[in-house]
This record gives sequence, structure tokens and C-alpha cells, in this order.
Amino acid sequence: MKEAAAVFVTGGAGFIGSAVVGELLKSTEFSVINIDSLTYAGNPVTISRFENNPRYQFVQADICDAKAMDNLFRKNRPVAVMHLAAESHVDRSIGGSGVFVQTNIVGTYTLLETARHLVESNRPESDGFLFHHVSTDEVYGSLGHDGLFTEDSPYAPNSPYSASKAASDHLVRAWGETYGLQTVISNCSNNYGPYQYPEKLIPVVIGKALAEQAIPVYGSGENVRDWLFVDDHARALVKILREGRPGRTYNVGGNSEKTNIGVVRTICRALDDLVPRKGNKPYEDLISFVSDRPGHDFRYAIDSTRIRCELDWKPRETFDSGIQKTVDWYLSSVGRGWVEEIEKKQNT
Ligand code: NAD
Repeated sequence: MKEAAAVFVTGGAGFIGSAVVGELLKSTEFSVINIDSLTYAGNPVTISRFENNPRYQFVQADICDAKAMDNLFRKNRPVAVMHLAAESHVDRSIGGSGVFVQTNIVGTYTLLETARHLVESNRPESDGFLFHHVSTDEVYGSLGHDGLFTEDSPYAPNSPYSASKAASDHLVRAWGETYGLQTVISNCSNNYGPYQYPEKLIPVVIGKALAEQAIPVYGSGENVRDWLFVDDHARALVKILREGRPGRTYNVGGNSEKTNIGVVRTICRALDDLVPRKGNKPYEDLISFVSDRPGHDFRYAIDSTRIRCELDWKPRETFDSGIQKTVDWYLSSVGRGWVEEIEKKQNT
């Protein structure tokens, strides 16, 4: 039998990374080495479901640690890196941008250099190596009421988070052009689904509602995002790994544009049915409009034509089916146990 090809997933203990690990492990073609430093956003309980898989290995390491990365690359000789490790929360980037610059820019640079050295010292065996950088549609800035981001949209990041991701995208592109490293970049819209850290909109709404606390909504809630179910995204990323053309960028969207207030109301109504409040009061009563985020982009929307046509990918979930799965998961014993573990970690 052919030996499974080693794929590095960075940030595999996080929300999207863990879904990618799960997607890769579905095929005996791959073995997965999950490299994650376990920041506040990465949690061992998120990845405990992979522990018994013989094709899976977890390594706690910081992507900015050049020596540790070099040792890992030499030891495992991966055929690809799927790079998801990042500081990912816009609000945190406004309060403290340094760690975003460090992880998202310096960390990406460190991985690129390590990969380049491995490929250069191991030619021709490493020539098929692929560096897949996972990025965001926020690098394109903000849209008005019309239009969609394409792969040719100009970069115009507005937050420290999106600026750090834009910088890392540019590094990846340059390492491809200058050093001939085979790279692909994917820029996706807002993800949602199980295991999302309870600081992002959807898990915040579910958690606050169940705790009978005010549900905060920025500004008037009219900002628009395109929502992508995390398993659809993970499938897209593995498709890009298998069939993506080096040097190309792929935009990945869920074809589900919603205003933030629309999202909040949908979740409230789902909870009204599943866990009615005392006296059947609607959860929407808990909505509280708060001061807007500085530099809050008005609208993001993605044109996914390239990945749909070239790689035959499309999302399987509609927003309604995806949000139902998400709410069901946060209400399940696994979801509730996971949130409890996160809260324990927050309080230590
Ligand atoms: P997340 O915050 O849930 O997970 C990030 C993971 O990276 C965590 O497990 C964390 O421990 C790890 N990490 C952070 N710093 C590290 C370091 N220095 N070394 C090693 N590991 C480190 O993030 P996510 O939502 O899963 O996002 C994954 C990727 O997708 C990120 O690159 C993000 O920019 C991108 N992205 C996310 C979204 C979204 O909606 N969540 C949208 C577009 C793009």
C-alpha cells in the first residue's frame, strides 16, 4: 500500500483548522501533522476526536519558532503545508495589534523560509511541494451595497487584523514569484459552525441568549457578511490542495449574504423553537445595540466563480441548514461540554 503523504496543518486546534484536519483524515491518502501553539483560541478538547487516528499527530509549537519549524520539516518532509495558524479576531487586533503582526506576518514568513529551504535542499523530490495559505476576504476592504470581491479585487485592508493577513498574502505571493516556491492562496468569507470560539458573532449570540444576557449587536446591525459553513470551507481547502493550480488565488464564499441583525434574529427564532424561554418570551427581546466597531467594514461578498468552475466546488449548506446544524451542535452535550472547557480555560 502507498504510504500516506504527510500534510502539515498549522492552527489545526482552532475552529477552521480542526475541520480541515477532519476533512484530510477522511482519506487514507494523507497523514496529518497538526502544528499549533495552543493560544487562547486553540484547545486540546477541540482535537481530542482525532487522537486515536494512526495517521494523525499533534505537535505543540509556535510557527514563529524557526528552529522548531526547521526540525519539524526535516523530520517529516511534508508534501504540503496548509497554513491556518493566525490571530483571527478583528476586535482583539484593535486593542492589541502586536501579536497579529508577530503571528500573522512573522509566523508566515518563518514558515515560508523553512519551506523554501526544505524544497531547495531536497530537489527534485520536493518539487511537488505546495504551500497553501488560508486568508480572508477582509484583505479586499469594504464593499458598498453592490458588487462582489473577485480574485482581482485590489487589496484595501481596514483593520490591523486584515492588514496583517494582507501582508502575509503578499509574502506568500512573493515567495512564489521570487523563489519558485509553489504556493496557493485562498480568501474566504465569514465561517460559522461547530467549535467556533465564543467571541465571534454566532457563538456569542447563542451563548448570551442561553445565559439570558444582553445580545450585543454593533451599530444598527446592517453590516453585511457572506456566511460559509465551516465544513464546506474545509472541503474547498482540501480540493485546492489536491487540484489547485500553483500561483493561483481562490475566493471561497458561501453565497449567503446576511445582515448581522438578520443573522441574530435567525438564531433567536431557532432558539425560540428549540429551548423556549420562560413565559415564551422571544429571545429577540435580549438584543442590545452597542457602539459600532471602529473601521467596521460595511459589506463583504464573494464571487466564487473560479473555484466553482475550475475545481467543481460549491457549498452544500444553505444558511438555513448550516445555522440549524450550528445551533443544534451548541445545544448538544458535546457542544455544551466544549463551551464549558473553554470557559474553564478562560478562568484559569
Ligand atoms: P482560530 O482563532 O479559531 O484558530 C487559530 C489557531 O491558530 C488556534 O488554534 C491557535 O492556537 C493557533 N495559533 C495562533 N497563533 C499561533 C502560533 N504563533 N503558532 C502556532 N499556532 C498558533 O481561527 P480560525 O477562525 O480557525 O481561522 C483560521 C484561519 O482562517 C486564519 O488564518 C484566519 O485568518 C482565516 N480566516 C478565518 C475566517 C473565519 O471566519 N473564522 C474567515 C476568513 C479567514
